[in-house]
Amino acid sequence: MRHCSPPCTADCGPASLAPVTGSGLSLAEALRALPKVELHCHLEGALRPQTVAGLARKNGVPLPPGDVRDLYRWESLDEFLRVFWLIQSVLGDQSDWERLGYESVLDGAATGRVYAEVFVSPMRHLAAGQTLASVIEGLSAGLAAGDAETGATTRLIVNMDRSYGGEAGLQLMTELIGLRRANAAGADRVIGIGMDSAELTVDPLSFAPAYREAAAAGLRRCGHQGQVAPAASIGVVAVGLGAERIDHGVSLIDDPDLVAFFAGRGIPLTMCPTSNVVIARACGSVGRHPLPRLRDAGVLVTLNSDDPAMTGVDLAAEYATCAAAWNWSWDQMVDLALDGVAASWLDDDGKRALSARIAAEAARLAP
Ligand SMILES: [Zn+2]
Repeated sequence: MRHCSPPCTADCGPASLAPVTGSGLSLAEALRALPKVELHCHLEGALRPQTVAGLARKNGVPLPPGDVRDLYRWESLDEFLRVFWLIQSVLGDQSDWERLGYESVLDGAATGRVYAEVFVSPMRHLAAGQTLASVIEGLSAGLAAGDAETGATTRLIVNMDRSYGGEAGLQLMTELIGLRRANAAGADRVIGIGMDSAELTVDPLSFAPAYREAAAAGLRRCGHQGQVAPAASIGVVAVGLGAERIDHGVSLIDDPDLVAFFAGRGIPLTMCPTSNVVIARACGSVGRHPLPRLRDAGVLVTLNSDDPAMTGVDLAAEYATCAAAWNWSWDQMVDLALDGVAASWLDDDGKRALSARIAAEAARLAP
């Protein structure tokens, strides 16, 4: 595809584990210990395989025989989505959401994640009869317990599943805003909204009423776009829907004028190189991913795992993989981590404090 650069000749495997001078840590070890931000991680894609199996048994959800991980095979984004939907169907009640929230924070902390704005996509569960209130209350309780245990801070973004259409998206937003106004349990953890799932068959502008409603209620706005759809559609989500952040945005590189627009406006991209290679098949390798070129062009880009349990690549492994594939130094990777803070929806004081913490730890951990 055009947005991928020529075949990478670098070693695109995980960063070397050989000890070096400085802190005595290898680059991969130091990157795991470095405090990091994550702005693009789907909770359902963070479900531990053993939890998927346990919840399937508990809720009577039939899964094919064998190891859950054997299901994690696909040849396209649409095939991946079918597996994703099967996996998330094991979440049957509020206690399941609480378990997911709790385990996801523990697993995130093990990758050095200290601040996260994570996605939940509840529309399939609502269609199956669960309530938004129970999903939010369960998740929020689990995230709070995980945060308390690890010292992390985890906030929620509620995503609209595009395959359900713009009208269902507006209904979800109306219900979410109602929960926040009623001070429903856990609703204060929701700081923003977005959309995900199928790209090619949906007109993003059909979600304009939902985005307007969310903006009027003071919710922050992002949206998946440009995993497989062309660059122009990314501009539509940023300008036409008013999304403040684009999730993925891989194809942006194909439109130099749009790249300049994003750089000038400071609109961030939450990118997930390994996911783009193994899920969307949008690039042949991480070495060919456009993140470095977009960053060179002045676009604010951040590094994220997307669906860590399904790809087997967590946030720390993603940092190590990218450092090796792009031959980036420790300082370059620390700068990328700091850009995660800049692109977050923390307030200015929160950003300053977290940036200072990352810089101090970076000095201590430098390989
Ligand atoms: Zn995603």
